[in-house]
Amino acid sequence: MINGATQLYGVIGNPVRHSLSPIIHNGAFRRMGLNAAYLAFEVKNLAEAIQGVRGLGIRGVSVTIPFKTQILPFLDQVEGVAGKIKAVNTITNEEGRLIGHNTDWCAAMEALEEKVDLPGKRVILLGAGGAARAIAFGLKERGCQVIIHNRSPQKAADLARELGFLHRPMSFPVKLDADVLINATSLGMAPHNGESPLPQELLRAGMTVMDIVYQPLQTKLLREAGERGCQTIDGLSMLARQGAAQLQIWTGRSPEIGQIKEDLRRALTADR
Ligand code: NDP
Repeated sequence: MINGATQLYGVIGNPVRHSLSPIIHNGAFRRMGLNAAYLAFEVKNLAEAIQGVRGLGIRGVSVTIPFKTQILPFLDQVEGVAGKIKAVNTITNEEGRLIGHNTDWCAAMEALEEKVDLPGKRVILLGAGGAARAIAFGLKERGCQVIIHNRSPQKAADLARELGFLHRPMSFPVKLDADVLINATSLGMAPHNGESPLPQELLRAGMTVMDIVYQPLQTKLLREAGERGCQTIDGLSMLARQGAAQLQIWTGRSPEIGQIKEDLRRALTADR
């Protein structure tokens, strides 16, 4: 029940109407018994939006495309790895002091760590965009050996140089020497469901394959990886965990991941 004591949270982005964050957070607030509400704000002018956050005392904000990096100069403080990644997806408002965090990288690591012991593993990371960048920093933190493949070679080279990783174009040798393969490109995302970033023959049993694309949940890559006997991790795993980590930062309480995944699965199925 919304009343005078309700605390407001939200996501800023553009476009943002498709965002699943209101599903994650309003469901979790309700189950946690918190008097809080979460809205999506389609922002045209970031400076004005931030003034609004301070002025209205909005308690916490998720940040999405295209603002994850643009937001940095507007914040009073940026925590730990978020500063190194140079991307913030979560803001806490501590009485007008805005503090930035990044929950994407740890969400991806937790999703992987449910199935693999990461330190020392050979990882192929596809992509060098925003999400790939957060994941690459996580893999560095966990002591993985990483090769980054990307369509635009310069972006892969820049990210690889920053972290001491190797880089390649989006073409592959006849055999992949990898324990883990992560797709952090948008290849396979609806409406291009029929695409996979690499030939199925390169996938083999014993590999763990994570696809962070979540629309559709069962991408061509994951289907083919399953057929070849790989362990698979879908995009819902990271999506649910980045939201759960935001809730933990804002409320100091850990929400139930399984319930968040259930809400997301229902929303994604209803969209089809
Ligand atoms: P960006 O736009 O920052 O990066 C897109 C990446 O995909 C780049 O590496 C780009 O290569 C590559 N790419 C796009 N189209 C093609 C193509 N036709 N062929 C080869 N490579 C291509 O997006 P994000 O990093 O924010 O998001 C990437 C995907 O991850 C999206 O599907 C998004 O929905 C998903 N995502 C999932 C999350 C989750 O929690 N599960 C969290 C965040 C994102 P290039 O550099 O050459 O342009």
